[in-house]
Order: sequence, then structure tokens, then C-alpha cells
Amino acid sequence: MKRILMVAGILGSVSIANAKDCAVTVESNDAMQFSTKEIKVSEKCKEVAITLKHVGKLPKTAMGHNLVITKKADATKVSTAGMTSGVAGNYLPKDKNGVIAATKLLGGGESDTIKFSLKGMSKGESYVFICTFPGHSTIMRGDFKII
Ligand code: ZN
Repeated sequence: MKRILMVAGILGSVSIANAKDCAVTVESNDAMQFSTKEIKVSEKCKEVAITLKHVGKLPKTAMGHNLVITKKADATKVSTAGMTSGVAGNYLPKDKNGVIAATKLLGGGESDTIKFSLKGMSKGESYVFICTFPGHSTIMRGDFKII
């Protein structure tokens, strides 16, 4: 293990992040909660994979969840604009303005995985993940951190 760390140190910026740092699974439930308040990914990830699982039983029309990544400053705008698109539009803004990445809207028992690049995102910026189902984003939110 020590040896691997040393090699990674020598390679510096060209080293590739451990795959497990680039794949995250978040659960959501019928109590309108995400299983975590924070997602951390390495800046070295070429691609980030986020899986959202809805471990509840309620249909997406009643307790639908998605996971949408935005700049912190855009979160309210995105959730407000998303309301008008309804279940069919995954409660996402029609113009996708402010949406960096988003799963589809899930009902109980469903899951979705999204993959995206961190290109264009910066370590110094504040990002959040939210659920844009109407009324959910004030509770269903957490920090998305690039470390
Ligand atoms: Zn939700």
C-alpha cells in the first residue's frame, strides 16, 4: 500500500484517481430524504458516476426523487424552473439552464446512474445536489464537493 501511494505521489497530476472515488451511490426514500448530505469526488476523476436509488415504495407521482447537480447559486432557480415540467419532464427546467447533471425522476424501487465529466467545474466553486420534485429541494439537498 505504501508503495502504491509513493508511486502516485511521484506521478503527481498525471495519476488517475482510484475508481471508487469516482463512483457514488446515494439512496432516497419515502421519508423525503437522501442517505447523505455530502458527495465528494476527486478532481482527478475523468468521469464521475452517480447512482440514485429510490428504496421506498411510493410512485414517482407522489414521492418522486431525482438527483440534480447545480452550482449552489443556481439551485433555487433550477428547482423553481423544474416544477413546470412535471413528472414527464423529470421536474427539470425545459432549457436545462443551470443543470450540470441530473438523473431521471424515480419512483420506489427504481434506480438511475448518470456519468459526467468534471470539465468546466472548479474545485473552488460551491455545488449542491438537490431533488427538484416540488417541495423537496429544501430538505433533499447536500453539498457536492470536488476534492
Ligand atoms: Zn424528492
